[in-house]
Amino acid sequence: MNIKSAEFLMSNSKVHLCPEPNLPEFAFIGRSNVGKSSLINMLTERKSLAKTSSTPGKTQLINHFIINDEWYLVDLPGYGYAKMPEKPRKKLKAIIENYILGRENLTNIFVLIDSRHSPQQIDLEFMEWLGESQIPFSIIFTKTDKLSKGALLKNIETYRQEMLKVWEDMPPYFTSSSTKREGRDEILDYLDTILKQ
Ligand code: GDP
Repeated sequence: MNIKSAEFLMSNSKVHLCPEPNLPEFAFIGRSNVGKSSLINMLTERKSLAKTSSTPGKTQLINHFIINDEWYLVDLPGYGYAKMPEKPRKKLKAIIENYILGRENLTNIFVLIDSRHSPQQIDLEFMEWLGESQIPFSIIFTKTDKLSKGALLKNIETYRQEMLKVWEDMPPYFTSSSTKREGRDEILDYLDTILKQ
């Protein structure tokens, strides 16, 4: 897929305020600092497209972008802030869940996982919830430049074993490095395939 245009549309916290659900939508989510903004910028080849989401006040909002006038890209708030007090944490969880359950044109969620880390409960639980809610999702293992090929394969295998405790198989998954611009073609080809279905 060629990215011919990528524009920021809006940020909000309520599903009914999102753009009209008239195009397929792909959302990106992960723990804070997983590399989501960098990945979105790499995919769209726009240096700071996803910057809006890291400006103060916007990190906890649903950010919509329109790509090629063909599909919406959504930058969802990061979850798993270790130090966030209970009240805002619950509010954030509600924003994310209401969006995911209520957004009728949501086609696929990409769950970003830092490829260096062992499986984290918060990510596993989130994906389990997606499964129970019958939301299609895929995994992107990020920051692969930070470890050797061997270590990456080992970590992915550990992830697979962890997921097999709950799932029949791993969902589709990708690896990416925004620094080395790796994984872009595979992810965009996958989007293309889904869009053409
Ligand atoms: P977000 O909070 O999930 O949006 O994460 P960011 O995209 O802001 O990235 C968090 C930090 O990780 C920043 O310091 C990035 O420079 C760094 N980072 C993001 N992606 C990569 C990557 O693929 N490789 C490396 N080495 N660093 C990355």
